[in-house]
Amino acid sequence: MARTPTVLVAGAGVVGLATATLLATGRCADRVRVVVLDARPIPRWRADALDPRVYALSRASQQLLEEIGVWQRVAEARAAPYRRMRVWEGPDAYAPSALDFDSADIGEPDLGHIVEDALLRTVLADALGTAPQAQLVIGAQIESIDSQPGEVAVALKDGGSMSATVLLAADGTDSTVRRLLDLRTAGHAYEQSAVVTHVKSSKSHEETAWQRFLPGGPLALLPLADGSSSIVWSLPTADAERLLAASDAEFLAELAVATTGVIGDLTSCSKRVGFPLQALHALRYTAPRVALLGDAAHTVHPLAGQGMNLGLLDAASIAAVIEDALLAGEDIGDLKVLRRYERERKGDNLAMLAVFDGLNRLFGLPGWAAPLRGIGLRAVEAADPVKRLLMQKALGLGAGRKHRVRWSRAELQA
Ligand SMILES: Cc1cc2nc3c(=O)[nH]c(=O)nc-3n(C[C@H](O)[C@H](O)[C@H](O)COP(=O)(O)OP(=O)(O)OC[C@H]3O[C@@H](n4cnc5c(N)ncnc54)[C@H](O)[C@@H]3O)c2cc1C
Repeated sequence: MARTPTVLVAGAGVVGLATATLLATGRCADRVRVVVLDARPIPRWRADALDPRVYALSRASQQLLEEIGVWQRVAEARAAPYRRMRVWEGPDAYAPSALDFDSADIGEPDLGHIVEDALLRTVLADALGTAPQAQLVIGAQIESIDSQPGEVAVALKDGGSMSATVLLAADGTDSTVRRLLDLRTAGHAYEQSAVVTHVKSSKSHEETAWQRFLPGGPLALLPLADGSSSIVWSLPTADAERLLAASDAEFLAELAVATTGVIGDLTSCSKRVGFPLQALHALRYTAPRVALLGDAAHTVHPLAGQGMNLGLLDAASIAAVIEDALLAGEDIGDLKVLRRYERERKGDNLAMLAVFDGLNRLFGLPGWAAPLRGIGLRAVEAADPVKRLLMQKALGLGAGRKHRVRWSRAELQA
């Protein structure tokens, strides 16, 4: 009897777990084994603690999580909708050049949701745990990879080894798999770091995602379910290090100036965490029996909050490509199968990376460029169709549609 094909997923971040769960609970669940490896434990979500790492998830990401059958749990636990987005540059968030995106203008209830990393990973790991042919191995760090005809073998740091039909690398921006296979990348460090924290304020966030472009980098205020706001402040590295080391009072004083009072006085903040920022794109997403996904394939500036959303579209795409290949009786590790995924995702990812990179550069230009930026922003604000198009794009509507048509859990059980 032929052996059941095995998909080995490196990395139990959200992208790795989503890919594994799609495959292990999807239309080919009985035709494939799925094993997920991670070096570190998955943080367990707690109702009484807010994870400092949150994502602005697009509607497309929400739909994917609905299709996996975990969105309901996310929404019931803690997901904060954001219904508006206000983008501005100067000291006045309500200046004529400020951009205002309102979900009501396109007949949508919201523009997306802010969700904690630990919550997403908890619900995905639980869903994976219910799949009969899935396994999650924690404490497993890949040290070497050997691709042979018919299988790929990985050796682990603890001396163990595993073999599979295909290896999907969702092991993040510093991907070990990408390095071991010598898959080249293009990109550059931004010489910026993001300072991330949650703040409490005297005024409501009004379910609005606020984004101010400052000369040193963008500052985002994302609305959270408990009324506080998540701060993602990208700054030149030296400034970020200074703010990470500052006292809470000093940090809040500088942040208050930068936020121009849009959420009122800032009364407290949680522990601050820094993330060095870079743009990175793998020149190839595939090698024999291997494919790169999520941040391992592409890392974008967080200014538009799209890195995770792009990674989840990768997850939907590779899962659909593998399922189609299984149904057609093809070898799921064959390079020609994996290239279908690469062809589908690479162009979109590269285009998004270029747009975010360009925006960061444009708003980093000195004062002389401010009037030009103002003209551009005012033109977008005045042009209704352009604004609508940007909102549709941010929601992720229309992206990868055919790969998000799946069976719901109820239909699978019927
Ligand atoms: C400040 C900031 C704010 C952001 N905000 C947003 C946002 O609002 N919306 C959005 O869409 N995106 C956002 N992003 C981007 C988002 O964080 C990333 O795109 C996303 O986390 C990538 O997920 P991933 O699963 O590919 O990788 P990761 O989350 O990095 O997960 C990789 C996993 O692989 C494991 N691993 C690593 N090496 C090995 C190994 N050798 N063996 C086994 N396991 C290994 C790690 O332990 C980890 O669990 C933001 C990024 C930053 C820096």
